[in-house]
Amino acid sequence: MSPETKKQSGFAGRVLERIGRADPRLIEAALQQYLAQKQLLEVIFENLQEGLVVTDSQLRILTCNARARRWLGIPPRRRMTGESLLAHISVPEIFQFVARTDFSKPQRVEQDFRPACFAGITLQLTSYPVESQDGSLFSRVFVLRDVTETRRAELRERQAERIASLATLTAGIAHELKNPLNSLQIHAQLTNRMIAGVRNGGQTVELDRLEASLRVILEETRRMTRIVDEFLGAVRPTDPEKAEVALRELVEKVARMFLPECRQADIALEVVCDADLPPILLDSDQIERALVNVIRNAIEAILEKRKAGDGTEPAKKDSIAVTCRIDGDDALIEVVDTGCGIAQENLGKVFEPYYTTKFSGTGLGLMNVYRILREHDGKVEIESEVGRGTRVRMRLPLSQRPVRLLPKA
Ligand code: ADP
Ligand code: MG
Repeated sequence: MSPETKKQSGFAGRVLERIGRADPRLIEAALQQYLAQKQLLEVIFENLQEGLVVTDSQLRILTCNARARRWLGIPPRRRMTGESLLAHISVPEIFQFVARTDFSKPQRVEQDFRPACFAGITLQLTSYPVESQDGSLFSRVFVLRDVTETRRAELRERQAERIASLATLTAGIAHELKNPLNSLQIHAQLTNRMIAGVRNGGQTVELDRLEASLRVILEETRRMTRIVDEFLGAVRPTDPEKAEVALRELVEKVARMFLPECRQADIALEVVCDADLPPILLDSDQIERALVNVIRNAIEAILEKRKAGDGTEPAKKDSIAVTCRIDGDDALIEVVDTGCGIAQENLGKVFEPYYTTKFSGTGLGLMNVYRILREHDGKVEIESEVGRGTRVRMRLPLSQRPVRLLPKA
């Protein structure tokens, strides 16, 4: 409240206190002041760029400005105070959303719409509760904003980023394929020479050498396939195809895929997911791929640590803990491993394309994870300590969540 309004309400308050014995001129002045102020606020309210509706907790309209009327499809200048908001919304997309959303809980709700009747316009509807002073009752404010330009700019920015990263990636893949190609060529030549030797000079073929060369050829082709696969994963145009997904099931499914491998490597794989995680809007294939990448890294980090270790049995069994829960406004998936860890100076590099410390790594895994989370408006965070392990946090904003729907009648 500005000091001015405070003063005025103080003035009005004083007038009210003494209303019985107050000078009528004083009362008139107070009223005039009050009316002028009310008028000013009404003009501002009516001319806001945003559409604004205030309702009581039962969604009965208390007030509604011109912009909101237009965007909700309400005829102008119709008195609606006390009537149900729902009964007045004639834009089908918004009507359905408001009808199916549970507004009984005092929580904030946000959703974008591209109503067919306003071709090309993206509207953002935000609804939040306003509590009365004693906290018992609340009214609701609905704000409608034209976010067409913002969304377009976001899209342009994403596209530009994609093109820029595509350039880096293509330059990189040429470089990455060069080494295995070289070694393929060398070993193919070697086998060729061995065969020629047998043909021409009656030399005996050294099976061990032949086998070694063939093994390298196989390994290198495998590595090239992996590089190409991950490269494709990184550059394929991927507007995520989002649908309502039970995150818990997704996480448990991915973890299950790794169970045999972990058992064999003597790694304890623990999965703990909150039972009451709400369904979230996401591209399940992509989130699955991200999670696979992170868990694979965890396994590889544990194997790496063992390789570097002195061979003695560790005091505690190695483990990978995958958890999934709500954290503030996000759904949080965490993967914690007891692997080799990442040195502080390398933490900044792990998302860069082709950064890898592994013999047959591609360095594209975490870059893909980063991209996937970004496309979900989420993010990845990594904490790590050399020799102790790594914690990867993947956050998905819950505002992506379809608002809890009322059971259909
Ligand atoms: P890649 O696995 O092919 O090497 P990534 O992009 O998945 O590529 O990972 C890049 C690098 O980040 C890895 O080579 C490794 O050095 C480091 N890294 C990623 N995850 C972990 C982890 N859980 N523990 C230790 N190091 C990790
Ligand atoms: Mg990886």
